[in-house]
Amino acid sequence: MSTVVVMLGPPGSGKGTQAKRLVDVLGIPHVSSGDLFRHHLSEGTELGRMAHGYMERGELVPDRVTVEMVIERITQPDCDEGVILDGFPRTLTQAEALDEALREQGMAVTLAPLIHVSDEEVIRRITARRVCRDCGAVYNLVFEPPQEEGVCDVCGGDLYRREDDDPETVRHRLYTYYKETSPVIGYYFAQGLLVEIDGQQPTADVERDLRNAVQRLGEPA
Ligand code: ADP
Ligand code: ZN
Repeated sequence: MSTVVVMLGPPGSGKGTQAKRLVDVLGIPHVSSGDLFRHHLSEGTELGRMAHGYMERGELVPDRVTVEMVIERITQPDCDEGVILDGFPRTLTQAEALDEALREQGMAVTLAPLIHVSDEEVIRRITARRVCRDCGAVYNLVFEPPQEEGVCDVCGGDLYRREDDDPETVRHRLYTYYKETSPVIGYYFAQGLLVEIDGQQPTADVERDLRNAVQRLGEPA
């Protein structure tokens, strides 16, 4: 039996951080659509150049290219046992395309944790977020500052603020989230796959609730 976890929640809800922590628990890879796009961007691929404008404005990259990029990634052999998806699906079209691609592999979404965080908290967190240019480690100047300002604890790389992490773009990303991604929440709720988690607790408590939800998966209802 494979496990496909779809992490849901607004930008800045901590779904990426929590997705990474689940990797060791579940022994399956973490695939973040945002990271895939940022990778294309830094490599200067055609896809990266195309996605850049949308990302900069806090808008969604069109479904067709997004679906193709993510499906290509999750059909790699390392995802045979399952995958933890983060940032995808973000529209109903993407959710349906995911189901279809999984069905072809004899797989299905098994759990959709929704991490709740208020809009004020999202803006507060994201504007203090810094990312390592080299290894992608994420810091928060308020809650999880690096030991040395501007330097990654893990690899010594340079920390930067994502260009879409300025307050105005964050507000637009939230708007996009409510408009485009809310239907995805309903989609998984209707299938009994949604688990709601309070994302404003300390990260360790969010992690505990998420682990509990994942562990209940294997048990009879
Ligand atoms: P967030 O912190 O908003 O969750 P991500 O790193 O997931 O940020 O995504 C950054 C940007 O990449 C988005 O604002 C969007 O432009 C693009 N993107 C990421 N995932 C998707 C997706 N599934 N569909 C369309 N665009 C996406
Ligand atoms: Zn680093």
